[in-house]
Amino acid sequence: MSELDLHTDCENCQGLCCVAPPFAKSNEFAYAKAEGEPCRHLAKNDRCLIHEDLVTKGFIGCVKFECFSAGQKVTQHHFAGQSWQDDHLTAKRMFHIFFIVKALQQKIKALLEDDAEGNAEKITTLEQLSLASEEDLLTLDLDRL
Ligand code: SF4
Repeated sequence: MSELDLHTDCENCQGLCCVAPPFAKSNEFAYAKAEGEPCRHLAKNDRCLIHEDLVTKGFIGCVKFECFSAGQKVTQHHFAGQSWQDDHLTAKRMFHIFFIVKALQQKIKALLEDDAEGNAEKITTLEQLSLASEEDLLTLDLDRL
């Protein structure tokens, strides 16, 4: 795996980062929203309505945000053919898995940057884990990892 594999691909995601995480009103976000609440600027087709104006509209936090490719992985691999817009339970499951996969991807990113001996093996293990079943992911002890 390379850093390229961790690049965000919004075209293959369902705007998970615009729904799953909460954000507080600050100089990075112009208003506050709860976890699992779709951002008011997210269109039905999962695209940002103010994408070109994020900074001027007070959403520099969105420009800075990085999912390390967790969004497209969850959308395409774990929940292929389903959408958080289908029903409340699917949304809840997707967001939970999104947070777990994002944490794994973030660890992979850190290991890639560290470039220490033995990291390649750890990265392979984390990559395999990130593709594990929903049941297996839910039992992961991320702190221990
Ligand atoms: S402002 Fe746009 S990019 Fe930021 S959370 Fe809302 S829809 Fe997503």
